[in-house]
Amino acid sequence: MRLLLVEDDKALSADLAKQLGQHGFAVDRVFDGVEAAYMGENEPYDVIVLDLGLPEMPGIDVLKQWRSKQLAIPVLILTARSAWHEKVDGFRAGADDYLSKPFHVEELLVRLEALVRRSKGITSAHIEAGGLKLDEATQSVEMSMDNRLETITLTGVEFRLLRYLMMQPGHVFSDSHLLEHVYDYDSEKESNVIEVYISKLRKKLGKERILTRRGQGYLFSVKVR
Ligand code: CA
Repeated sequence: MRLLLVEDDKALSADLAKQLGQHGFAVDRVFDGVEAAYMGENEPYDVIVLDLGLPEMPGIDVLKQWRSKQLAIPVLILTARSAWHEKVDGFRAGADDYLSKPFHVEELLVRLEALVRRSKGITSAHIEAGGLKLDEATQSVEMSMDNRLETITLTGVEFRLLRYLMMQPGHVFSDSHLLEHVYDYDSEKESNVIEVYISKLRKKLGKERILTRRGQGYLFSVKVR
């Protein structure tokens, strides 16, 4: 999942980016409102964390600009603890959730995961499809094999790719689309990397879980023998 982190406090930004990265988000960082506005409009993010107090352009104006341009990406705003009116203004400008500073990263993570699930139309508290259940906290997947429940651990990239496919089962995603949602802006992207990780996932989960549509891409199949 691609995440845009808009926070001008460099130390906080670096710390958050590291922890979000460890939890399966491909994070791009920006430090002022003008760059935030540009990146939000031009890169395919799944969720955005937006600090309100920013140089160049206030966060609230960035958010208003995005919403006026029909940008529907879920946005969580970061506010000062005492400033209740910032929360009200934030929601009026189109925010989907907020956290007051200081906060625990665990809380940010579960809020972001819930926001993304909701935005993809998932109503349950987990990502489940085709008899597989994804555990976002441990980055593993549960599947029943021979009437037993097996837990399969995933590497970071395997988890990010499988989570993306499982959130919209039956939906065909091209290689380039998957690359854009699994990797951040700055990472080196080998052209066949998605193919390589799809094949790793098939070895772990069985061939029939992820189907190839020639010339179109990949989909997570809910119909498993
Ligand atoms: Ca700030």
